[in-house]
Formats: sequence, C-alpha cells, structure tokens
Amino acid sequence: MPINFIPNDPLSQAFAPLRTIDPLPERPADRAGFRFSGVQGEGEHSVGTKEFLFWQCREAALRSIETWEALNGPLKRWQGNKKTLLLRQDAGDDLNAYYDRSSLSFFHHTSGQKTTYSGASTDVVAHEAGHAFLDAIRPQLFSVNFTETGAFHEAFGDLVAILTALMDPLTRETLLAESPDLRTANYVEATAEDLSDGIRREYGASHAASKPRRALNEFVWQHPILLPHSAPPDELSSEIHSFGRVVSGCVYDTLANIFNSRPNRDEQSLLEAAQTTGRLLIGAAKIAPSESRYFRAVGRAMILVDSELNGGANHLSIRDAFAAHNIPLGSSAMLAPVSLLAGGAPSMSGRSQKISIPKSVTTDLAKRLGVASTAKFAVQSFQMAGETIAEAIHEHEVPLGGLDRRLKGVVAFAPASVLVGEVSARAAVLGGLPDVQGAADEVVQFVETLLDNDRVKYEDSNAAESGAPGRFKTHEIQSVRGKRVLTRIAFDCFGGCGCSHG
Ligand SMILES: [Zn+2]
Repeated sequence: MPINFIPNDPLSQAFAPLRTIDPLPERPADRAGFRFSGVQGEGEHSVGTKEFLFWQCREAALRSIETWEALNGPLKRWQGNKKTLLLRQDAGDDLNAYYDRSSLSFFHHTSGQKTTYSGASTDVVAHEAGHAFLDAIRPQLFSVNFTETGAFHEAFGDLVAILTALMDPLTRETLLAESPDLRTANYVEATAEDLSDGIRREYGASHAASKPRRALNEFVWQHPILLPHSAPPDELSSEIHSFGRVVSGCVYDTLANIFNSRPNRDEQSLLEAAQTTGRLLIGAAKIAPSESRYFRAVGRAMILVDSELNGGANHLSIRDAFAAHNIPLGSSAMLAPVSLLAGGAPSMSGRSQKISIPKSVTTDLAKRLGVASTAKFAVQSFQMAGETIAEAIHEHEVPLGGLDRRLKGVVAFAPASVLVGEVSARAAVLGGLPDVQGAADEVVQFVETLLDNDRVKYEDSNAAESGAPGRFKTHEIQSVRGKRVLTRIAFDCFGGCGCSHG
C-alpha cells in the first residue's frame, strides 16, 4: 500500500515535495536492518500524525541503507556484530537525534504553533544512519578523543545525507535545475533545515545549530586549539559539528570538481560523480590512520584509494578540493618510508590471516615515541598497492583532573598511531612518527570543548550541577581495567552552545 514520504527535509519541499510511493520492503534475512517501534498501519497518512512519522522515518532509514549498499556492498552487521538497531522515530521531547550503538533515536518538540519531528527529516535520519555505517566499518573511531576524528564522524553523517539525496533521480534533476554546477547554495548540500529552524525558534539565532549545516562552504582549516569552543552558526568553532564543516566542504567540493570535469553535466553524470565520491570517502575512512590531523589523513587516503580504484583519475579533483579549505595533502607522503625499525616487517599469520608485528619492533616504536617500553600496541592492517600495511596504535593516557574537579583521577586516551610497512624485509615507519605531546594537548582541548558545551554526564550529577536539563550528553566516565576513563556513549545531530531548554 502506498505511503506519503518527504524525500529530503520537511523545509525543502519547495524543491523536493512530499510524494506518494510504495515503501521499501523489509530487509533480507541475511542483512543488517532495524527493529521498529510504535509500528503503524501502512497508508497515505497526513504529515504531523504518528502514522506518517513511522512510515517516513522507516523509509528514510531504509533508503540510507540502500545508498550505503550501492556504495559499499551488502550491509551484513552493524558495529559489535549486531544484526539490528532499534529505530525510534519519537523518543520524547527534545530538539535532537542521536546514534548510541543500540538505536537511532529521534524526538519531537513544540515551539509556539509548530511541532518539529527530527525523525520526519530524511536528512536527519540519514545523518544518524551515517554515524552507524561509519561505526560498522571503523569502530575504533567512535571513541578517539581528537577534535578532527569527532568532526569527521559528524561530517560523514552529513555526507551520507547528501549522498542519500543524490541517489534519488528526481532530486538530481531538481538540483541541477537549481544549481547546474553544484557551486551555488542548494537544498541538497544544506541538511536538517527543519530541525535547525526549530532550534532557532526555541533558542534564538545565535545558537550554533540555528541554521542548517552546509557542505558548500568556505571554511578553511585552522588548528582546532586556536578556535573558540562554541560560536554562532556562521563561524567556526572546535565543537565537532561546527568544525566538521571543514571536511564536509572538502568532500562536497571533490564531488563538484569530479562532476564539473565530466563532458556531460546531466543527471546520469551526477549519479556517477556521487557514486565515485562516495566510494572514495568510504575507502578512505577504512584506512586513514587515527591521527590528530585526521582531515588531512582522510584526504590523502582518498587519493590513494582513487589510484587503486580509478587509476588516479580524480587526483586533482581531490587535491584542489582539500587545498581550497587550507588542507594541502602531499598524499605521496602518507606511505613514504621515513625510518627503519629494529626488526622484521609486519606479517600475516594464522588461519584468520591476522597481522602481527615482531616484539622488537614495538619495543623500538615505544622508545621512539617516548612511552614505556612495555607499552601495548593494537595492530590492524590494510592492503595498498599490493602491500600489507600495519597501523600500530598505542593509547597514551592523558590525565584530566586539572580541567574540572569532577574529573579528578579520570583519564582520556590519546592515540599514537604509526603506519608500519616493509623496506627490504625490515619494518619501517611510513609517513612519520606522531607527536605524543601534541596529541595529548589536542585531547585536552577536545575535552575542554566538551566541558564548555556541557556534554559530559557525571555519575552523581543532578540537573543543576550538570548544566541545562535536557542537554544531550555524549560522554561519561567508565571503568576500564581499573581506570576511570572518559568514554563516548553517543553521537548526536547537533552540538552547540550551552543554551537551556525553556
Ligand atoms: Zn551527528
């Protein structure tokens, strides 16, 4: 039975109006999917009803998966080998949405005459699904305490929303009518129009999330330590939703460059450019090492992935896009051998072909990083240009007690990530060694930004102590092997200033 569906955002209906469509079928039994809540009968329900909201949110979520599978193949499991995530189209009164590894959750809030439903925006649903997709392919990124890794997670959500829009033929046609070269402001690169309108009406125009985030932007990279911890929507801050716009800008510009370099700038060409860009982005997210300059790492990895997939056809499109946002790539540097280590090259062993690095090599690495010689390294691997490359990550403890009395005895981890490859059977550092002290400084800055935006949940906190009631918390203190560790519990749709619910 047909349903009513808004393909982009409730406030983009001048370009992408409500349609009556046949809903997507349930997910196949051997693929990952959703558990639904508050299930409603199928039909052409009116906007604003719970029946409409259920089918709208379900369709948006399934279309996001359809987009992901078109770019990355079958989605068999979510992070943690989970078969399903709970889809909660209305989890209560708030102006937000979040992904917390067990659900995609959306909310409603009434300001004046209007009720905003975050689950009614395909943009917002696809953004949260984007967090879940990235978490499925790169779970360790969820808890990395660098501004740029968190900001990339947010940008990835926005980019999945944009790619989901671009998989729709009618959207491509109306977009090209509005912006033939993709280089003028348009409804596809802008996301979550309706939810940000709700935030503006509730909290005012200085709230960081009171305007839609735009992937077509002129924000240039600056060291996040130099940025304010929060800022109005047109300015850059170190809050991850705000700062993520730098890298969503890089990837959107890559898409525009690829599209504009094609002989025919039509709807079919736009589909192909979106597919190419999406595959480069996903391929890069799988291999970019967890370093503090993560945007640059992603850009470099996109160029490497392009050389594998497309013979380097889009090298200039990527390079120019990142350079326009003040991120020069020097992509060949990422895998260039820098120094030899004391021992043999990483090797694949055992039935599961797991990567291993000789003990003498990690001991040598620990010495060079200035950490204890017994320091542990987590090792994973990827293939590039026919070679196996290992990423060895040591989690360096950063004490947080000096930032807030409630963080006394609490630490956050700063990853020190090293790519290790082979030169004449010897292990070699590729690209360079991380700056452990610099990484610790960036973790401190990341946590300061969390504190200033009231994002940390304390065990014994009451509303007055933890800040504004209803302020969504992304982090809490957990016990990990006898240590008290600041740990991420969720990504949400919006960050921003510490405004309180009225
Ligand atoms: Zn988000």
